[in-house]
Amino acid sequence: MIIDGKALAQEAEAETRQMIEMLARRGVVPGLATVLVGENPASQMYVRIKHSACDRVGIRSENVVLAENISEELLIEKILELNLRPEIHGILLQLPLPKGLNPQKAMMTISPRKDADGFHPENMGALLLGAEKMVPCTPRGIIFALEKLGKKLEGAEVVIVGHSNVVGKPLAAMFLNRNATVQVCHVFTRDLAEHTRDADILVVAAGVPALIKKEMVKPGAYIFDVGINRVGNKTVGDVDFEAVKDVAAAITPVPGGVGPLTVAMLLRQTVQAAENLTT
Ligand code: NAD
Repeated sequence: MIIDGKALAQEAEAETRQMIEMLARRGVVPGLATVLVGENPASQMYVRIKHSACDRVGIRSENVVLAENISEELLIEKILELNLRPEIHGILLQLPLPKGLNPQKAMMTISPRKDADGFHPENMGALLLGAEKMVPCTPRGIIFALEKLGKKLEGAEVVIVGHSNVVGKPLAAMFLNRNATVQVCHVFTRDLAEHTRDADILVVAAGVPALIKKEMVKPGAYIFDVGINRVGNKTVGDVDFEAVKDVAAAITPVPGGVGPLTVAMLLRQTVQAAENLTT
């Protein structure tokens, strides 16, 4: 089975639209502000995708564009202004930031209640303690898909390749919260295949094209390919898709897999923040 990320994202968006209709009855329109520093073309594209997704479901969104050479003080001031605005319920700082700006410091300035990306230490801490509030969107999208597909997580052998703060670490916590057994691999893992072959559910977020080959996968595994790599003029993931799809029970394509799910979860979290902030 090819896991259709777009179709699952549409299902998530339909549910989110219903949540937005409920809010409308109370006169609340959810609002998302993105903060984009500099002119990185990939970041500009991601921000555009997020705003058009907001338009589709009825979230009011605005993009705060700041100059590449902005000072850290001014960036923090802009975020603090957004924290105070009642019609803004979610704030997303588009990463990476230009050199010289500390992303951790800027991220910690976002009010935890408006932290649409779930990167604030308070939300990360809550996640680790098993009380998921605002959580990072890519991990949430993967869990959402597994739940929609009816895959049992309790007792499942999960292997995650990549230990970033954005994907690997929070996703490991989310699987543990659902009583899966979790192995997290990374660039210093001595024998990657020895681990990946254990996986009932394999998530790969390394940013290395074709890192995962057929012989590294257990037959019948569910595979989520998070990687986004440009090879020539094609976008590919981290899994050798053509070969691996024959042994996996289910696999996400790139593009059209994890990406749309991530955006759908951003919408979900913005609406959740609007609910929390207005009740
Ligand atoms: P990152 O780039 O910060 O770190 C990469 C991780 O992979 C590290 O843990 C590193 O140790 C590990 N790694 C690198 N090479 C490896 C190797 N050869 N063997 C084993 N492990 C290796 O991670 P990130 O920010 O999570 O991004 C990973 C990939 O996922 C990138 O391609 C990124 O563009 C993509 N991504 C996609 C989405 C989405 O919505 N689809 C969201 C976030 C990230």
